[in-house]
Amino acid sequence: MDTITENTSIFETLKKYFGYDSFRANQQEIIESLLSGKDNLVIMPTGGGKSMCFQLPAMHFPKTTLVISPLIALMKDQVDGLEANGIPAAFFNSSQSELAQDRIIKKVMAGTIKLLYVAPESLPGLSKITKKKFLSCIAIDEAHCISSWGHDFRPSYQQLGILKETLPEVPIIALTATADKTTRQDIIDQLNVPDARQSITSFDRPNIALEVRSGDKRMDQIVDFIGTQEGTSGIVYCLSRKNTEEVAEKLRHKGFQANAYHAGLSNERRNEVQNNFIHDRLQIVCATIAFGMGIDKSNVRWIVHHNLPKNIEGYYQEIGRAGRDGEPAHALLFHTYADIVQLRKYIEGASNEEIQVSKLERMKQFVDATSCRRKVLLGYFGEILEEDCGNCDMCKNPPTFIDGTEIATRVLTTISQVKGTEAIGVLIDILRGSQNAVIVDKGYTSLKNYGKGMDISRKDWKQYIIQLINQGYCELAFHKSNALQLTRLSLRVLQEGLKVNLTAPVELEEIPKSTAPEKKLVSVSGGTGETLFDRLKELRSKIAVENGKAAHLIFSDASLRSMETIKPLSEESFLTVSGVGQNKMNKFGAVFIKEIKTFQREKRKKSVDTFKATFELYEQGLPVPEIAAKREINATTIYSHLAKLYLDGFAVNLKQYITDEELEGIRKAKDVLDNSNSLKPYFEHFNEQMAYHKIRVGLTLLEKPE
Ligand code: ADP
Ligand code: ZN
Repeated sequence: MDTITENTSIFETLKKYFGYDSFRANQQEIIESLLSGKDNLVIMPTGGGKSMCFQLPAMHFPKTTLVISPLIALMKDQVDGLEANGIPAAFFNSSQSELAQDRIIKKVMAGTIKLLYVAPESLPGLSKITKKKFLSCIAIDEAHCISSWGHDFRPSYQQLGILKETLPEVPIIALTATADKTTRQDIIDQLNVPDARQSITSFDRPNIALEVRSGDKRMDQIVDFIGTQEGTSGIVYCLSRKNTEEVAEKLRHKGFQANAYHAGLSNERRNEVQNNFIHDRLQIVCATIAFGMGIDKSNVRWIVHHNLPKNIEGYYQEIGRAGRDGEPAHALLFHTYADIVQLRKYIEGASNEEIQVSKLERMKQFVDATSCRRKVLLGYFGEILEEDCGNCDMCKNPPTFIDGTEIATRVLTTISQVKGTEAIGVLIDILRGSQNAVIVDKGYTSLKNYGKGMDISRKDWKQYIIQLINQGYCELAFHKSNALQLTRLSLRVLQEGLKVNLTAPVELEEIPKSTAPEKKLVSVSGGTGETLFDRLKELRSKIAVENGKAAHLIFSDASLRSMETIKPLSEESFLTVSGVGQNKMNKFGAVFIKEIKTFQREKRKKSVDTFKATFELYEQGLPVPEIAAKREINATTIYSHLAKLYLDGFAVNLKQYITDEELEGIRKAKDVLDNSNSLKPYFEHFNEQMAYHKIRVGLTLLEKPE
């Protein structure tokens, strides 16, 4: 740490302490501005790399950076992460003994701590050091908590306004993932930093694949989906506490490791679930929205929404908990019309009912989007995405549009025939000519439209009607048992022949009964031990347990992937791995390099072993097809083994597998084909009439004549 001088560049620090080669969007500008003493307001989406904006400058500032953060759990994680990178940091809170608190204060006074985390409630306890002579910078994380406009107002944040008054020369950096303009201005006002430099980073999280599905048989769909996720960590968000318990139970029944998490559980239990999840001992958490707030786990690979979320802010925040390491992640949302009805019920009578209803409307627009969903999502946050994202279900499987005017007319006239008193189910019964009691009792069998919709299945009718509602051609009267009613637009369709566009119903693939991976999923971090990545993950888990740290604090998944690609065998090349700085190199480099070497050696040995086995059988005089059968490898591979053995000087008679004419043919072809060494051009040259193994043998003999 003492190696940073005035001349050290922020790039060197980035590499040496954090192990990264380049800054993410806006980080460099923010860091430079902060180091020059300016106040900064940073709006960056979750996972965008906010912490770097104050952690790195902290290394360059002469004195301590004070970090105000609302969540104690998060603080500890950040301090652990910093220490793992060789950066002296600590947190200060009321759970510590007076002695421990004193020790920390002394360290700040001595200037030996670069970052000190504190919750706003505990700030008064730090009055001895909240002085210009001890602090170089103040970072305010989750700064939206200061604003009553934000979605997470905390009264304890309000006292932060005095910081600027008492310490005018100490630059403040306020950070949040909440974009909206009113909140932004409010943060600036409340913190007294009118001249703060504002930087707004794109909210796009392109690595998160977006998918929305209708909630029919959703439990089967969820089981099926998780089955494809190879044991990686994920969260299932549910609407109610009871719901989380049920879903977790069902998943366990299918052989997954899943636990519920909600406010009704004891503190102890909640911590246990959360810790198991963070440390990769538990694959799945089924949670109400409360979960995930205070946790910083970079390798959550997928998020499932069991139900429609009530607004886009919440949804985006929740899916943002996936893929924070930048690796691909998947967000899958299920919704049904019942969800909307239910959410409407919750909202009813709330003091801000109107706002909530309109937020729910926007959420509906998102799930009903028929083009790039990411555009809709970012549009909500005031960002314009120029091109379709290519990583959402609409981009991957664009819907087919149909002229829905006639279909709409049938629905709307039916609504009119029942005078707007019936909900979707009865309308479909009428169209489908159902004989059920309600239809008969109410005399609907004599309606003009009765039985006029036999050509369309119930399921498709439902999808069409929902589309009509969403486009405003008719509406649900929530106060009248969800009866469907006509709107101004309906009249334009019925009277003026306004054209209606619908999308063809999507066929839900038949969901295979149970696809629970019977054995494989037991250990989240375990993998199957087949790939280098799996092996490195295993090693990481082991080290994490030994050190009592979360696995992602050792190395992120992204770092392990990078190791898998680079396969560093020296300290020098290990330092080129993304996320590996000097400290992690010193701490873990040797063991990881050793593991990579072992893996390579075993792989080589396996391949040497396979040649040896082939050769032994060959020496016994077995013909190739028999060797192949015995070894359960295909014959072409056996020929390639023999060719390699021959080249390596083993006594293999290759000539027996090819005639002189064939060999001559290959020689000529080789000239024509510019000495090509791959087999396919020869295969094509001989019009697919010369077997691959003969080409292989021929080329080997030409390379090394007997
Ligand atoms: P936020 O606080 O904005 O949600 P974090 O600060 O936790 O995000 O950063 C998310 C992840 O991105 C962390 O794993 C962090 O190490 C990583 N990260 C930050 N800056 C960079 C960078 N310049 N290059 C690569 N990874 C980075
Ligand atoms: Zn898209």
